Amino acid sequence: MTTTPETTPGTTALARPATAAEAAGRRRPVRSAGARPARTIAIDRYLETIYCIEGEDQPVRPGRLAQWLGVTAPTVSIALRRLRAGGWIETGEDRVVTLTPAGRRTAEETVRRHRLIECWLCDVLGMDWASAHSEAKRLAPALSDDVLRRLDLALGGPATCPHGHRIPGRAAPYGDLVPLTSLAAGVPATVRRVSEIMEYECFACLEELAAAGVGIGTQVSFETDGDMAVLRVSGGGDRRVTVPMSTAQLISVDAPAASA
Ligand SMILES: [Zn+2]
Repeated sequence: MTTTPETTPGTTALARPATAAEAAGRRRPVRSAGARPARTIAIDRYLETIYCIEGEDQPVRPGRLAQWLGVTAPTVSIALRRLRAGGWIETGEDRVVTLTPAGRRTAEETVRRHRLIECWLCDVLGMDWASAHSEAKRLAPALSDDVLRRLDLALGGPATCPHGHRIPGRAAPYGDLVPLTSLAAGVPATVRRVSEIMEYECFACLEELAAAGVGIGTQVSFETDGDMAVLRVSGGGDRRVTVPMSTAQLISVDAPAASA
């Protein structure tokens, strides 16, 4: 496999002043081919997490990675060095991490694996979407590619995970989405996706929503109550759940034109 030059413009791989040789136009030696780190479960977890934060249109900073992965800042620093050495990521001058094409390919494999397992846990085994997320994290590294292929076939090639996120390589079965809270109060809309931020930063919210019957495909409306949003689930009686507005913003529904 090829390595990504560490002197790509716009990155901070050079944390020290350029040497005379570099100033003269010679790249500093990167490393021997044999020094490239091997892909590990930990590396996959980092790439998956970077991919998911990018998918939320948010900058991927080391502090956010530490929070999502539940590790310390020094641990993230060491891991990011390995990921750079492997050619999977680049780091900008503002410390924002981005995936290289090789990193994105690897991340998509890992994310696909996680999301297919979630489908299996929810659709076949009847787990709720909160438990499925944490169980999938545990199970994902253990499944062989062959088992995953058969699982995908048995599930009928799903397009999204139980949280509405697209399985890499497949088209999403919905059009434009907007945050539930961008709609007028009381207007019902169909839930299509919940943010990965909820899965990583507000796990209890997933559990609360599941307990109230909120899931992909359910009709939900909201009303504000100070900083809180009261979500009302259409059908099946008067089911409601109160969550912070910041949580309700993480629920995506069909854009008004598509939900009519
Ligand atoms: Zn998911």
